[in-house]
Amino acid sequence: MTVNPLLKKFFIVLNRPRIPENIGASARAICNMGLGGLVVVAPENPDLEKMLKMATHKAAHLIKGMKIYSDLKEALANFGYIIGTTARTGGIRKPILTPREVAAGLFQFAAQNQIAIVFGSEDRGLTNQEIRFCHQLVKIPVAEFSSLNLAQAVMVISYEIFLASFQPPQRVSPRLATSQELELMYEKIKEILIKISFIQPENPDHWMMNIRRFFSRIGLRSNEVNLIMGICRQIEWFGKARFKDQNESLTPEKENK
Ligand code: SAH
Repeated sequence: MTVNPLLKKFFIVLNRPRIPENIGASARAICNMGLGGLVVVAPENPDLEKMLKMATHKAAHLIKGMKIYSDLKEALANFGYIIGTTARTGGIRKPILTPREVAAGLFQFAAQNQIAIVFGSEDRGLTNQEIRFCHQLVKIPVAEFSSLNLAQAVMVISYEIFLASFQPPQRVSPRLATSQELELMYEKIKEILIKISFIQPENPDHWMMNIRRFFSRIGLRSNEVNLIMGICRQIEWFGKARFKDQNESLTPEKENK
């Protein structure tokens, strides 16, 4: 079978998995479906023997070559497009699409970007804080009991990506800003919006979520992130200059005039 080489741009990211067998079974699914590799964040029980047993010798190279990080933000730093997977809906978890609705569209990014599919831990799933990094959320539709076993969820989504790899690409998207570039930009925007009292310092994340959603939809490039950073720095400089002027005009000397 001729396999689409772009499948190698897709990586499965397991955030804080608890059960080593699920890591092994995920590696096997990645191998079966021809994806790029496995990234694991803070595994609770990094028992290699248990992982390798479920991976079988065919996917052992994925376990031996998997990248391990202590923090999700760091693990996602170099990815240009990030999909979050969740069994839970509602609240900030919208809009949610099915893997089939999303998979074909991902190939437009794959030529120029590394794509991460993020999975949560067996007990907690992904928290709202962790979902922040994602451009899009997907939920596997089920008849009953919304939550799948972690490795089975990895398989279903990997399979949908594999099937979509046979469809002709809709268009080719340019290289997008990496997660690291975006996170620095969101930090700066948050800082400025607090300074100009547009958002409350007590609960900035609620507002920032709307801003993140809006930018995720656009898919910013590196130079566009630099432009927004430049605007933020100019606002900051302008505010500081004005603040200084105000102080000067309020000095007792001037007030007495
Ligand atoms: N109790 C958790 C479920 C965790 S299942 C919760 O309520 O969120 C472990 C992981 O498998 C989830 O974080 C998600 O990444 C994936 N998963 C399980 N069921 C899924 C579904 N129906 N759709 C998409 N991903 C799912």
